[in-house]
Amino acid sequence: MDKISKPQRTREIIENYQFTLKKKFGQNFLINQNILDDIIKGANLAPEDIVIEIGPGIGSLTQYIAEQVDEVLAIEIDKTLIPILEDTLSEYDNIRILNEDILKVDLKGLLESDYKNRSVKIVANLPYYITTPIIMKIFEEHVPIDSITIMIQEEVADRMQAKPSTKEYGALSLAVQYYSYPKVIVKVPPSCFVPQPKVGSSVIRLELTDHYKNQTEDDRFLFQLIRGAFQQRRKTLVNTLAHQPNIHLTKEEIREALAKIDLSEKIRGEALSLQEFIELTKVLKKRG
Ligand code: SAM
Repeated sequence: MDKISKPQRTREIIENYQFTLKKKFGQNFLINQNILDDIIKGANLAPEDIVIEIGPGIGSLTQYIAEQVDEVLAIEIDKTLIPILEDTLSEYDNIRILNEDILKVDLKGLLESDYKNRSVKIVANLPYYITTPIIMKIFEEHVPIDSITIMIQEEVADRMQAKPSTKEYGALSLAVQYYSYPKVIVKVPPSCFVPQPKVGSSVIRLELTDHYKNQTEDDRFLFQLIRGAFQQRRKTLVNTLAHQPNIHLTKEEIREALAKIDLSEKIRGEALSLQEFIELTKVLKKRG
């Protein structure tokens, strides 16, 4: 079947359906087949896989995925795209389309009821305005999946891989590095999309770690500390954390905990590595 992502075909589809692209939904459709091949290769798909695609648009990436796996569950918020998708993808009988907001779907419940014990992967060209909420939702709800391969803004990919004491380093870097091994597969220029975004993009693969598979109560506390630490990143960790209402720690308790892991009481949150945040969590959990 002709590729939906060919520039000429994409333009035809938009014109024939008189579809108006919506900026508020981050609609930038992929028109480069080499990049689509790179996403598919990078996602490491197997024939028995179930793939969740967030935001199928007019089906450009959906078509590539459907040719590789058992079933694609495509979740699209824009109801005007649903009849278009049903038409552009009519030759495939392994695509299920849901007209929902990904941030409101009970993904975990859906996977447990409809795809129990299946290998599930997420593959998507994400709507950039909600990249972080989507990733945090997947992590926090502990959705039972094997890997995530996504196109995101290049700057967000840099934040995901950032190291301590850099300006990109923050709560997102720590969450991504705690729950996954992030790896950029390919950088993608604006010319690969219709319409062209203003920023560069990256395809990144997040291979999930054992921390993701075995989440514990301590994780909640770890992320309370991390979020607290970056609320005021120019202040010392002692000062920032002592003012977090949900953490309930005194300055003295934080100073003692830092001393136990050989860190200065003057250290800022942005200087702590993931391992140091993990150690700090353990020490603080043990107190009392
Ligand atoms: N997958 C297509 C492609 O690669 O050409 C389209 C990608 S486009 C960057 C993002 C898609 O996500 C759009 O189709 C948009 O309507 C959809 N979208 C935006 N917000 C969404 C949400 N909250 N839930 C589900 N889909 C959403």
